[in-house]
Amino acid sequence: MTALDKEFDFSRPKTIEQLYNLVQECQHEGRHFVFSAGGTDIMLHLKSEILSPDIVISLTGLPALNTIEKRGNHIIIGALTSLSDLSKNNHIQEHLPSLGGAARKVASPQIRNRATIGGNIMVENRCSYINQSRLNRQSHSPCFKADGNICHLVKSVKRGDDILCQARFVSDTAPILLLQGSTLDIIGPAGPREIKLADLYLNDGMESKSLMRGEIITHIKVEIPENSASHYEKLTIRNALDFPALGVAVLRRGNGDISVALTGLNTRPGVFHATLENYETHDDMIVDICQKANDFTVTYQQDFFPRGYRKNMISVFIRRGINKILEGGKS
Ligand SMILES: Cc1cc2nc3c(=O)[nH]c(=O)nc-3n(C[C@H](O)[C@H](O)[C@H](O)COP(=O)(O)OP(=O)(O)OC[C@H]3O[C@@H](n4cnc5c(N)ncnc54)[C@H](O)[C@@H]3O)c2cc1C
Ligand code: SF4
Repeated sequence: MTALDKEFDFSRPKTIEQLYNLVQECQHEGRHFVFSAGGTDIMLHLKSEILSPDIVISLTGLPALNTIEKRGNHIIIGALTSLSDLSKNNHIQEHLPSLGGAARKVASPQIRNRATIGGNIMVENRCSYINQSRLNRQSHSPCFKADGNICHLVKSVKRGDDILCQARFVSDTAPILLLQGSTLDIIGPAGPREIKLADLYLNDGMESKSLMRGEIITHIKVEIPENSASHYEKLTIRNALDFPALGVAVLRRGNGDISVALTGLNTRPGVFHATLENYETHDDMIVDICQKANDFTVTYQQDFFPRGYRKNMISVFIRRGINKILEGGKS
């Protein structure tokens, strides 16, 4: 890695046991390690020296995590499943077509062949100030996320504030998985545990995920939806390669209740529910859920689209998603 100021080691354990021996060794020796799966996100952080670990630990030697199974009324997705395999899988196409559709909207075919679903739900939050080359970053003083004392995006932020960094959440697959109430199997130095996907996400763009040091996601468990349909749509300039300026997933249950999940805006995804029986008309429910989504959203100029436009498009995408579902088009 001669182009980088700091070289790093690379290791690819073949079993969970080997992985945790290595993690413990690193913790004992105080060596900074990062995990890589498909590497399509983290390699850019290494290349632009946003991250400078002592060692990169690849998870790709753990083949048992590269499977999709149907168990009872659940689909169990191995975290190392590539987004291409996920979108082509029969169980996904039959039971979770909108998840396959969201996976197909990530990046480009070449990237999706490498990118994993685990890496996608863990993808690092983004900001137009930090996700730049080192040379570009050197043209301004380091921000909080780079161990500095300023946020260039929101200049009023100071140390001690609840949220230091507004880098935005950008995963395309998380919104549909959140609406399906997915859970995560996690393993780490302290053993296995299970959490709701919703509990993975935190408020600060710097520490945006709740995994503890050394923990990895092994599987994503999704309940097969009964009598419901969902749809995901993202706002981008180009049809490929763009992160979502806004991503909206809509789920409609058989009884008419609606849930919405957002990506591409705040530091964490937003999820909102509306129960039809609480409203006089179907349209009142839609107006209310659009309002809730708008109230939650904070937009900053982190994208090609004007921030007001991104905010206005939330309601447009919610209505469009509901109409698509009512027309029978799920994707
Ligand atoms: C040009 C370009 C365009 C892109 N467009 C999009 C886009 O439109 N939408 C989008 O969502 N993403 C996009 N991405 C980002 C990225 O490609 C995807 O999010 C991808 O799914 C990341 O998966 P990966 O396996 O490559 O993750 P990696 O890069 O390997 O890892 C990403 C992060 O997740 C952690 N991680 C990975 N697997 C696990 C695990 N099992 N347990 C715990 N932590 C884990 C890593 O430590 C790292 O912090 C784009 C990337 C590029 C280069
Ligand atoms: S939002 Fe975060 S990454 Fe962006 S400038 Fe502020 S502290 Fe840095």
